[in-house]
Amino acid sequence: MKITFLGTGGGRFTTISQKRMTGGFRIDDINGKNYHIDPGPGALVRSYQFGIKPTTLNGVFVSHAHTDHYTDVEVLIEAMTRGMTRENGVIIGSRSVFKGFKQWGPCISNYHRGKSDKLVLDPNKTKTVDGIKIKGTKTIHGDPTCVGFQMQANGLAISYTSDTKYFDKLHEYHKDADILIGSVIRPGTKSIKGHMCSGNFAKLVKEVNPKIAIMTHFGFKMLSENPANEAKYVQKKSGIRTIAAFDGMKLEIDDKNRNKVKIIKMKNKFAKNNQNLNHSINNDSNDKQTVLNSNNNQNTFIKDFSYKHENKKK
Ligand SMILES: [Zn+2]
Ligand SMILES: [Zn+2]
Repeated sequence: MKITFLGTGGGRFTTISQKRMTGGFRIDDINGKNYHIDPGPGALVRSYQFGIKPTTLNGVFVSHAHTDHYTDVEVLIEAMTRGMTRENGVIIGSRSVFKGFKQWGPCISNYHRGKSDKLVLDPNKTKTVDGIKIKGTKTIHGDPTCVGFQMQANGLAISYTSDTKYFDKLHEYHKDADILIGSVIRPGTKSIKGHMCSGNFAKLVKEVNPKIAIMTHFGFKMLSENPANEAKYVQKKSGIRTIAAFDGMKLEIDDKNRNKVKIIKMKNKFAKNNQNLNHSINNDSNDKQTVLNSNNNQNTFIKDFSYKHENKKK
């Protein structure tokens, strides 16, 4: 199984400035299927940029009706259905994404809903799709219907908080996660309404006790600090291996030996031929995790580590 980050930016200002990319992430080869999660602005282009074919999708997941999570979903649905000529795939999302809720959404036209299965996800609602158990997880966020998920296949559970503030029972929704992916918009211990800061995430990671925790969805303030240092802080506080995701980061989880997770920097296919399509993000000297403009065109192997998980009560 692989998880590829096609964007690790979040919030309005990171998105409109593209200080980091906002394409969401892909989970590939989960029970043989491929899902795009929260395809914000650029998801289609970033897929190609990092050598991933949108036409191989079996599903898209949109957690809520904010632009940094949904803008590219319709074009990805077109990719998934061969330009709306084939019945294929599943669209999973919040109530607001499909039907609209108060001033939020809907985000997908009737036309684009026409060729795929649909699953409206609510907290604790569980459905098995293609042999993958998908459970909705609660959030407290600006879009009241916003939903995270836990996906479980072949004994491995991936949890994604989506945008939410920290609350006492949040960990119950993500319990038993092996991999916990959190939207952590702010550094330090000062959160903003409807979002988590590093301090909140450290608490959550400790409570959930996953094998590995990944921080993504970084806002402006987070990027003016160093997300890698924030991850170190979370790791120290929680005792769990924690990584700050970067644009083009791929995690490879060995199905046979899950104690091995490989982190790969994806080849940036646009780097050589079209510098203009490269992002300006690396100009920010504080943003030390961002490495995409490097001239190295090979998949650069960064780190291969084993993690121990002694505290897990299962
Ligand atoms: Zn967001
Ligand atoms: Zn949001």
